[in-house]
Amino acid sequence: MARAPRPRAVPPRPAHRARSLPRERALVSAVVETCHRLAALDLIGAGEGNVSVRLGPDAFLVTASGVNKGQLRPGHVLRIDGDGAVTRGAGRPSTELRMHLAAYAARPDVEAIVHAHPITAVALTVAGAPPPNDLVPEAAVTLGEIALAPFATPGTGEVPASLAPYLARHDVLLLERHGALALGRTLAEALDRMETLERVARIALAARLAGRCTPLPGDAVDRVLLAAGKPARKR
Ligand SMILES: [Zn+2]
Repeated sequence: MARAPRPRAVPPRPAHRARSLPRERALVSAVVETCHRLAALDLIGAGEGNVSVRLGPDAFLVTASGVNKGQLRPGHVLRIDGDGAVTRGAGRPSTELRMHLAAYAARPDVEAIVHAHPITAVALTVAGAPPPNDLVPEAAVTLGEIALAPFATPGTGEVPASLAPYLARHDVLLLERHGALALGRTLAEALDRMETLERVARIALAARLAGRCTPLPGDAVDRVLLAAGKPARKR
């Protein structure tokens, strides 16, 4: 009869792990706060939306699936690895996790991602009339060029596939008849982009009702970007 293997000694906890915990806790709080802001701004309702941050080379924090994000608590923020396996916390990660992981893989500069269902922006995709780029200065500076990804079944691999052609060059992506994805170097930047997208969509809708909805001319966009310290648009 084979002997039971001797229990292996527990390896000492690496020093960097202890140091990383306060940062992880702070990011969990930031994810919770971001979800509450998304709900307060009516950018999500019920169980809609999901938020993630990059924690390290192979670690991310992401919201759990099926939770009303307006009432999200720290226990609903899970740590996952690059394959989407949960490494801390209970519950299932967001059904749109693959979309987040695809965006992080495509964009090493991205540290945070916000996915929401902004009503006006989505309505304009239903109407086949998404907001034009560069409608107002904050659109040029905060959003850049908005991508429009064709409809894909939510929660499936169709969604990351529909986004793949746009991830390298866009920080703000509209998902036809579904929602939007905002990428950022911080959660605050990604949230600002989502909030600005919906405001710009409302401006586009109102402008069309009032008459014309035309973008800023290219030279005006260049001046706006220069004044904001942003690189000129490639044309
Ligand atoms: Zn969604």
